[in-house]
Amino acid sequence: AQPDSPAHVAILPSPGMGHLIPLAELAKRLVHQHNFSITFVIPTDGSPSKAQRSVLGSLPSTIRSVFLPPVNLSDLPEDVKIETTISLTVARSLPSLRDVFRSLADRGNRVVSLVVDLFGTDAFDVAREFNVSPYIFFPSTAMALSLFFHLPKLDEMVSCEYREMKEPVKIPGCLPIHGGELLDPAQDRKNDAYKWLLHHTKRYRLAEGVMVNSFTDLEKGALQALREVEAGKGKPAVYPVGPLVNMDSSTGGEGSDQCLKWLDDQPHGSVLFVSFGSGGTLSLDQITELALGLETSEQRFLWVARSPNDAVSNATFFSVDSHEDPFNFLPKGFLERTKGRGLVVPSWAPQPQVLSHGSTGGFLTHCGWNSTLESVVNGVPLIVWPLYAEQKMNAWMLTQDIKVALRPKASDNGLIGREEIANVVRGLMEGEEGKRVRNRMKDLKEAAARVLSTEDGSLSELARRWKNQKWN
Ligand code: UDP
Repeated sequence: AQPDSPAHVAILPSPGMGHLIPLAELAKRLVHQHNFSITFVIPTDGSPSKAQRSVLGSLPSTIRSVFLPPVNLSDLPEDVKIETTISLTVARSLPSLRDVFRSLADRGNRVVSLVVDLFGTDAFDVAREFNVSPYIFFPSTAMALSLFFHLPKLDEMVSCEYREMKEPVKIPGCLPIHGGELLDPAQDRKNDAYKWLLHHTKRYRLAEGVMVNSFTDLEKGALQALREVEAGKGKPAVYPVGPLVNMDSSTGGEGSDQCLKWLDDQPHGSVLFVSFGSGGTLSLDQITELALGLETSEQRFLWVARSPNDAVSNATFFSVDSHEDPFNFLPKGFLERTKGRGLVVPSWAPQPQVLSHGSTGGFLTHCGWNSTLESVVNGVPLIVWPLYAEQKMNAWMLTQDIKVALRPKASDNGLIGREEIANVVRGLMEGEEGKRVRNRMKDLKEAAARVLSTEDGSLSELARRWKNQKWN
């Protein structure tokens, strides 16, 4: 390649839509604002999903994507955890990643960096072989990133399970948090998922830099702590490049129009949007409580309701009936009783559009970080209902630290009851505490708008660094 040929960035998303969506936004910014050309290199253990194709297909033509040959994971036990699956998918794709790097070089591309996400650090070795600088895009909070850098030390200091610790865990720059609220793979230290987590966190120091999908007004303490340790110990530079959110209408799917038309007919700020991310599900009993809670609250709602996740009760729903009524897992008469006031849609809603719609006044969310940021840029206050991954950490931060969310409490049987749900929903939509979190969220929306309208300082700095890199 010629020294003046356009700089090229390779991006390797690890499996999962929550990883791909913000990386696609990053790619668009690098292309539109900084003139990079980009190749997505996608490891997989099967054929690409419709959702993946739709996100990648909507990207500008200077962004290419290459699907690596599927790896074989048939040797993994049935109860394997997602972090292990993701890590092995990347690790077993290294030979084909090497082929892609070779062909990029053969075609004269000046590849200046390889960007991986959360659990993709094994790809660093291939980048180094080709003299390409390894970077991480961290699609979650600065708080979780601070924990990642801290984890190797915590692992040495603590001998029991983190959830059994008497003292809360002190993540640098963050409000102390109970060990049981840390991300899922840190909850069972004997499991391979924890070993992979530790493996990656140790390798984070090998990166030249880490981009994190957050911004200073949102996570001042954690970002400050990351800068301090970085200065002290020569850690990779940390770039807060957020909020990178998907504002594109093309991923809406089939039910899109129905949701937006219905919202058009509702009063301003009156609707609670209820959704648990791209894959979150509840048990049948919990769905029943949620439905009756929404009904009792007498508030308007738009609910993305998926089939229950408990296999036993699920069995009955695969009967012939279920074709006629996709919502036969909802309490009897619920749809009729809430007609006009509530809309229930199956599996998917055009979330970015729903959250930016004037009728939407609240969001009951599983606290996935993309969902959270989408709510922040639209100034929509939250009810947090964390399910998996690092969502309990997010819920903790959103309620205790940033104070933009209310959280319903589970009762002794582990379920969140209908009365509790109704109270919290009314509290958010009509109550005094709702007003407080709504105002706080408005401030954050303005802060996010300021970050988005300025010259995205952090990403520009990184782009300059990449472009000025010596080429050999
Ligand atoms: N999403 C959507 N419609 C849905 C559910 C999810 O458009 O019905 C999008 C949502 O806007 C977000 C992403 O899928 O961009 C979910 O990412 P998040 O990090 O919130 O949660 P995850 O799915 O990774 O748990």
